[in-house]
Amino acid sequence: MYQSFIGLEVHIHLLTKTKVFCGCRSAFGDEPNANVCPVCMGYPGVLPSLNIEAMRMGCMVARSLNCRIPEKTWFERKQYFYPDMPKNYQISQFASPLGQEGFVELEGRGRHPGSRPVKKRVRIKECHLEEDAGKMIHTGAVSLLDYNRAGVSLLEIVTEPDMENGDEAELFIHQLRRMVRYLGVCDGNMEEGSLRADANVSINFPGRGLGKKVEIKNLNSSRFVRLALDYEIKRQGELLDAGKTVIQETRLWNENRDETMPMRQKENAQDYRYFPEPDLPVFVPGEAFLKSVEDALVELPQVRVRRLAEDYGLTGEQADLICEEKAQADYFEEAAAEAVKRGLEKRTAAGRIANFLLTGIKHILNREGIPAHQIGQLKLTPRRLAALTAALVLGQVSGRNGKEALEAALAEDRDPEELIRERGWEQITDPAKIAEAVKAVAAAEAGAVAEARQTAAGDKRRRTLTAFLVGKVLSATGGRAEAKLARTQVEALIQQG
Ligand code: ADP
Ligand code: ZN
Ligand code: MG
Repeated sequence: MYQSFIGLEVHIHLLTKTKVFCGCRSAFGDEPNANVCPVCMGYPGVLPSLNIEAMRMGCMVARSLNCRIPEKTWFERKQYFYPDMPKNYQISQFASPLGQEGFVELEGRGRHPGSRPVKKRVRIKECHLEEDAGKMIHTGAVSLLDYNRAGVSLLEIVTEPDMENGDEAELFIHQLRRMVRYLGVCDGNMEEGSLRADANVSINFPGRGLGKKVEIKNLNSSRFVRLALDYEIKRQGELLDAGKTVIQETRLWNENRDETMPMRQKENAQDYRYFPEPDLPVFVPGEAFLKSVEDALVELPQVRVRRLAEDYGLTGEQADLICEEKAQADYFEEAAAEAVKRGLEKRTAAGRIANFLLTGIKHILNREGIPAHQIGQLKLTPRRLAALTAALVLGQVSGRNGKEALEAALAEDRDPEELIRERGWEQITDPAKIAEAVKAVAAAEAGAVAEARQTAAGDKRRRTLTAFLVGKVLSATGGRAEAKLARTQVEALIQQG
């Protein structure tokens, strides 16, 4: 067996309103070349100026990845020539990136069925701020250029080669995506290119250190990251098995053939001729700036998962699913707090609400086409869910009418508690009232009662008939009779015979 080494370079689009060095709008999907100006088009004689919001967001990510923010950070020009880059150099960071030497704890299960739990530290080499390039669209004989993306704030996060297989790399991307979404600095949309990854991988004989690195460029789905890396580890292993050597090169993932293909060899590594950007001053993150970064930080998803499991008695899996989206975790905690205000015990309330969120409400969100991160749009507010949960736990409404109340609350944008009162959905727990309904059913369904009396207790037919009669009693009370009481009384009725 060989040892394998994986390092990722992940690029995220920061959600700044404007580009990183000019005032152009930063948005996906606008009319091509609508958001351009002399600065991002690289006209001579123009001056870039740093978007401080981009620097702040970059530092928020750096801090959340346990990176050190240096006393001074600056920009360099990275020279290369490509039509999507009008200036012929990219303003990036090289010698003093805004975030240095951090780490994340990779933990949890890989993202695909059959993957094993992972727990390991992945070191972060650096985070640096740079500008994105434009977009080239090749259509038959011509290539079109859209410069809306040229100059958009891009943060690159570089890991040390601490991962070993596709599963770990996929989990890393998943965790990073969730983190930047929590921070509100990136939408994490991989299809739209807001988060893209280059994956570096090498293998070697155990104990011999890193091998010859292959870089797989521009992976736009975390699944492709996993597939490409696992493919590449296998390919390189077969080369070594055959006594051959791995060529250091850049490859691309071909999603139609499920394999990596050579793109360019990197033997004469590109010389980018980095030099300090003369048009931008060195950035010294002062006290006030650093405080604004700290103030903007939020409880990170991994911490929140742990807290939710401990404080509310949820399983790790429940907490993980709820914390997948910050909005959903917020919704959960708000609903739980409201339910406690209504006299429910915290863990009981939390358990019920977690179940609601992960089954019934998940179903409703799907049905209404509301993504989980927009759960705030749901007509069933956390307060309303708490009221309904309390009514259910305290036995004020039956499970069946609870569902009715939930649907009505959604459809009519109203408080389920009010609806329960107004529509007479309160549960009947008075045995005398239920006895009246049982008596009426006994008269109407005399045949079924008689047949049940002739069957032995525990007989399958007897159970079927009992269930039938209980159903009738529930219907006779408009679903309001407490089901347990109804059943006890129906059983007593059959026994009497
Ligand atoms: P380069 O100078 O070629 O860009 P870097 O040192 O900047 O290389 O590393 C780029 C990425 O490649 C990092 O994520 C790093 O962890 C990873 N990497 C570097 N060397 C190797 C290797 N031999 N095997 C696997 N990954 C590597
Ligand atoms: Zn511009
Ligand atoms: Mg590099």
